Amino acid sequence: MQVIRLAALSDNYIFVLHDPNQNIAAVVDPAEAKPVLQKLNELKASLVAIFNTHHHNDHVGGNRELMQQFPDVTVYGGAEDKGRIPGQQVFLQQGDRVEFAQRTAEVIFVPGHTRAHIAYYFPPENPGETGELFCGDTLFAGGCGRLFEGTPTQMVDSLSKLRSLPDDTRVWCAHEYTLNNLKFALTVDAQNADLQTRYDEVKASRSRKEATVPSLLGVEKHTNPFLRWDQPALQSAANNRDSVQTFAWIRGMKDKF
Ligand code: ZN
Ligand code: FE
Repeated sequence: MQVIRLAALSDNYIFVLHDPNQNIAAVVDPAEAKPVLQKLNELKASLVAIFNTHHHNDHVGGNRELMQQFPDVTVYGGAEDKGRIPGQQVFLQQGDRVEFAQRTAEVIFVPGHTRAHIAYYFPPENPGETGELFCGDTLFAGGCGRLFEGTPTQMVDSLSKLRSLPDDTRVWCAHEYTLNNLKFALTVDAQNADLQTRYDEVKASRSRKEATVPSLLGVEKHTNPFLRWDQPALQSAANNRDSVQTFAWIRGMKDKF
């Protein structure tokens, strides 16, 4: 399974999963259909699955047109998103498994950004494979999604599930927000040398117009303040609050940044 990153709208990423052996493809969060159709045409692959993480239009906007072009496609989303994802046929819950090509994804329920958000995690199954995490707007490179429909407690629980995955997991998040996220991160975790190094690297990458997605989960664990609610430096920046309160404080600061 190859993962192909497509840029869409102003700062979204769409991910095409491609199995060259069977000439089939799946797509994660098609913000729009056009770049996906172009890529499928180029690959000469037919679309068998749409994996949606949540109902926001910049994640499902291409569903209908893709379904018209590929009437046999199966549309997946979270069970709690029933009625909100165009064309949804499969309603997934924590622990469900979905298959594409030779790989099986585990569904992780990650409410917070929305009340129904799910992530898809493909663990490595064979030597040479890496874990692939499609986390929509829950975990970003250097950040996390805004809490539109969830509480800090829910988001900490959701991010805890993602944080427990292996360090070499590739994090395929749905937006190119990394540079601004890290700029903010430095305001709450200023003494973090790994963070400063990452900021410098990302700044250089973005000045060359390079994508910063995917990132590695191990890097996120060390530099993303939204995975570091239990670190003494962040807890003291938040005035010695507990983990959930520290997370809520960081999230509140970011909302005003
Ligand atoms: Zn969203
Ligand atoms: Fe989004």
